[in-house]
Amino acid sequence: MPVMYQVITPPTPIEDLKGVGPKLRDKLLELDIKDVNDVVFTLPSGHENLTVMDLREAAHNDKVTVAGTIQTEPALAYFRGGKNRLTVFMEINGMYVKVVFFNQPYLKDKLKVGETAKISGKFQRHKLEINAQRLIYDDSGGYRVKYSLGGVMHSKTFSKLVAQVFENAIFNYDLPEDLKGKYRLLSIREALWRLHFPENPHDINEARRTIKFYELFIFQLQLMEKRRRERVRNERYIVDYDVGALRTFIDTLPFELTDDQKRSVNEICRDLKQNVSMHRLLQGDVGSGKTIVAGIASYAVKTIGEQTALMVPTEVLANQHFQSFLEIFDGLLNIAKLTGNTSKKEKAGILAALRSGEIDLVIGTHALIEDDVAFNRLSLIITDEQHRFGVNQRKRLNERAYRKNVLYMTATPIPRTLSITTFGDMDISIIKEMPKGRKPVETYWRRFEETDEVLDALEAEMKKGHNAYIVAPLIEESETLDLKNVQEIFQMFTDRFGEENVELVHGRMKPDEKEAGMRRFESNEKPVLVSTTVIEVGINVPNATFMVIFNAERFGLSTLHQLRGRVGRSDKQSYCVLISDPKTENAKLRMDIMTSTTDGFELSERDLEMRGPGDYFGVRQSGLPQFKVADLAEDYRVLEHARMSAIEYSAKMEGDG
Ligand code: ADP
Ligand code: MG
Repeated sequence: MPVMYQVITPPTPIEDLKGVGPKLRDKLLELDIKDVNDVVFTLPSGHENLTVMDLREAAHNDKVTVAGTIQTEPALAYFRGGKNRLTVFMEINGMYVKVVFFNQPYLKDKLKVGETAKISGKFQRHKLEINAQRLIYDDSGGYRVKYSLGGVMHSKTFSKLVAQVFENAIFNYDLPEDLKGKYRLLSIREALWRLHFPENPHDINEARRTIKFYELFIFQLQLMEKRRRERVRNERYIVDYDVGALRTFIDTLPFELTDDQKRSVNEICRDLKQNVSMHRLLQGDVGSGKTIVAGIASYAVKTIGEQTALMVPTEVLANQHFQSFLEIFDGLLNIAKLTGNTSKKEKAGILAALRSGEIDLVIGTHALIEDDVAFNRLSLIITDEQHRFGVNQRKRLNERAYRKNVLYMTATPIPRTLSITTFGDMDISIIKEMPKGRKPVETYWRRFEETDEVLDALEAEMKKGHNAYIVAPLIEESETLDLKNVQEIFQMFTDRFGEENVELVHGRMKPDEKEAGMRRFESNEKPVLVSTTVIEVGINVPNATFMVIFNAERFGLSTLHQLRGRVGRSDKQSYCVLISDPKTENAKLRMDIMTSTTDGFELSERDLEMRGPGDYFGVRQSGLPQFKVADLAEDYRVLEHARMSAIEYSAKMEGDG
């Protein structure tokens, strides 16, 4: 298994290089440069082309390196704060050009009338002026490379170290020959050499292409290795559940599973029956019916008397799942709920029942990973909204398994290319299709001044006995002035519909207050719920058919989509109204996109386009590798090729071994 950025063995430490004493060693260590591999993989941060060009061929604003004859005495002028400007006229390729150096007064003595000089800088064609960066003394031409070394040493000195490594070290790792042939790649050694000592732009491009491929290829191999490790083969992982009992249970469900749900159930059940540990992601848009799929899996585990843990990110969601599981599994599963809010006494009882195996399914928050939670036989671990948990939190739960079968669930659709990178180590089941009879949520965008009409529409829904969600972005007025905060909006709704009809839930409330409020809303005792985005995750109130989102421009596409997913959860037509006076084009575009599609995957693609991969990854997935050349968002195609190659390569390795 090749290791990223280790192509030279032995990886001689830097102090073994000529010219690196203890002082320089310490400085290099600060830059994380420990051995010769680090030296060759410290790639130049930039290249400067020092080949002299013909100025007549340069375009406006081009960076140029040119040579000419000095025509005038250099004139030095000083400004405020010690800043200064040196001006000289030169004849360059038959043109009379004004050359300006900023803050390099010492060049005054070097520029002599009648002599030739080589300079580099930015050419302003319409003024025939060069904003000169450097006076070039050496005559070497070609390229000059720059390294970001935080002032520890000069780029030139570092270049010498690099050259020394190339001279003495043996490069042991290279990409497989057939891949180099197929994708016309250089050897790793050659590619690195060209980046450090380039001769022309073509060389640099070729070299970057090779290193990019190398990075993505190794990355994919690593993911595959990780996947292999997760999918350990061992008789121990077999959950030999009772197929007959499971079928009977599925037949008694109040609805028929969609094809996607059936397929996901089959995939999960196959994993359970097999002698490999399950490591699967269940991806499905909000409301697509992931919960029942998870429920069926936990029932399978129960048929052999073993346990399931379902971990969710919030208290509200734990309650929600607990209620719906109680309804579905009444009398079939012994279900408990464990959260930070569970009383001491109750908790003691639950912990004992988990240890004795009396409880089949425990649903809980982070409380599940506290030290005192132990199981009799935990054989299925489900994590909902998995991205909300850190790797370590998930691990802490997974470690308690008797048979380690892990199912992650997410309602965040991720563009395919990104899911390759983020979830490359997992098997994936996808639910795309919504339950039968679902109507897409009709979405409208209205200005704030049109709020009254929106309230009329809401009233019509209330008259049908339906519920409505009202979303406000922030809790404190002080945060910004133009935000209609949740209190103010609450007031507006109670004024119109009466306090007896409107519930308020926000992030600052105590958990039990929140829960009580949610319950009054769910039971339709209070049909209108004004809240902040606390309802974003997982809430299921099928009777809700109306949603109003105030200041919708404050939310990103994926949040808006998650919010909207709270309605449209039955066969009734649902509506979502975005209230917004957007001030930017980007915000307007978001409103337009939201009103034009309800497809989560399409939205996620648009989101990625608009926000760029940095943000996209930032919120969803930390811990992605930092590549030196490859860019996960831009290099889709290379990524696909690297992935295919890695799959073929590791299959071959396994065959050989
Ligand atoms: P998700 O967790 O994927 O956001 P849920 O599991 O909460 O979605 O399902 C949303 C609603 O759809 C629930 O009320 C659930 O009972 C219902 N449901 C799930 N599957 C089906 C189906 N095949 N047919 C009809 N209703 C379904
Ligand atoms: Mg298994």
